[in-house]
Amino acid sequence: MYVVLLLGFLGMTAWGAFDIRLNYFLSAISSFKTNENSIALTFDDGPTAFTPQVLDLLARYQMKATFFCIGKQLESYPEIAQRIQAEGHQLANHTYSHSNQMGFFGTQKLIEEFEQTDILLEKITGKKNNFFRPPFGVTNPHIAQAVRKMKYQVIGWNIRSLDTVIEEEEVIYQRIVSKVNKGGIVLLHDTSLKTIAVLERLLVFMKEKKYKSVTIAECISLKK
Ligand SMILES: [Zn+2]
Repeated sequence: MYVVLLLGFLGMTAWGAFDIRLNYFLSAISSFKTNENSIALTFDDGPTAFTPQVLDLLARYQMKATFFCIGKQLESYPEIAQRIQAEGHQLANHTYSHSNQMGFFGTQKLIEEFEQTDILLEKITGKKNNFFRPPFGVTNPHIAQAVRKMKYQVIGWNIRSLDTVIEEEEVIYQRIVSKVNKGGIVLLHDTSLKTIAVLERLLVFMKEKKYKSVTIAECISLKK
């Protein structure tokens, strides 16, 4: 009996650690309430050399997005980070190193990752950052503790493009448009030409269907 319970708990723990939508260790926002035809486009892992093309497209279609930035990338591409801010998009924290070992980091090391990136973000935005998205969507008790200490609002998604996993643009595009609904949060990555091609088609679709993209900060205010 106890073995079954223990295995059940371990199974749930592993599951909770790898699926942010379960809100097992943390309560994350994965969609928002709105009476408007709004969705939130979000881009993780930048800024990169691909980000300017994302910004060009967003400007052409007059959409606002949120960029969950890696601290190291902010240091590598400060001018692009400035441009994200100047064009009215939101920048938020996606850790300093985006290490795939993050699941094993202690609370103090995680807090350092968060603070290091927040300092970089504040230099660009002039404001304290309150938003965080966990790399790989992984949460565990250490991450939860560090997030509570930082008083972050954790942002998930409910429309996962799988743009870093799936090869075919068409498949990624169809995955997104089949799920798009008002109040949805779309997870994309400003790390490849493939995503830029998908984004261009998605923006045409959004314009036709009269969807507009808003920043996460704006989503939160729409929710209230
Ligand atoms: Zn990431």
